[in-house]
Amino acid sequence: MLNIVLFGPPGAGKGTQSQKLIEDYGLTHISTGDLFRKHLGEGTELGKKAQAFMDEGRLVPDQLVIDMVDDKLQEENNANGIIFDGFPRTIPQAEALDELLNKKSTPIKGMIALSVPDDELISRLLERGKTSGRADDQNREKIATRLQVYQTETLPVANYYEAQGRYESVDGVGGIDTIYERIKQAIEQLER
Ligand code: AMP
Repeated sequence: MLNIVLFGPPGAGKGTQSQKLIEDYGLTHISTGDLFRKHLGEGTELGKKAQAFMDEGRLVPDQLVIDMVDDKLQEENNANGIIFDGFPRTIPQAEALDELLNKKSTPIKGMIALSVPDDELISRLLERGKTSGRADDQNREKIATRLQVYQTETLPVANYYEAQGRYESVDGVGGIDTIYERIKQAIEQLER
């Protein structure tokens, strides 16, 4: 079973690369950003609670995120594994994920972290904002907040996995297929 965390700043290509992994490895995709956007679209209570945080490019409080992932995991029984995209984004989320998966005896094999320089991220996000319809991609100030939040709150999660020997860094600059090849090599490393 291949449970992996695909990690990286906003605009690193996590969504794009997740799609390729899903097809190749038969994995399930759990993207907390997508799940929140679905709740927002459907006007659920959770969506209403998350909206202000998302609009400002700040993180939704841990407990709301963890409960949402817990619910989602209870629906999932894909034997091949799960890609976590955009989650965990804080240390308490990483600890909660370990606990949830340990209960199922299906731990995270490791984290694959895409690294991309900030100037490239900003231009990718602005470009994506032209077609994604995402308010948080269309405004330089919101993008700057998200990158700042990533640095201060989310980056420590990489250390959490690295300290446990469950971490591979991947250069996230280049063509989509080139980056994907690097990811596949990183998965091989994690599986050793
Ligand atoms: P994303 O699509 O992953 O960029 O997420 C969009 C927005 O959803 C983020 O800017 C946060 O406001 C919220 N969000 C998504 N995942 C998380 C998470 N794991 N923890 C807290 N907030 C999240």
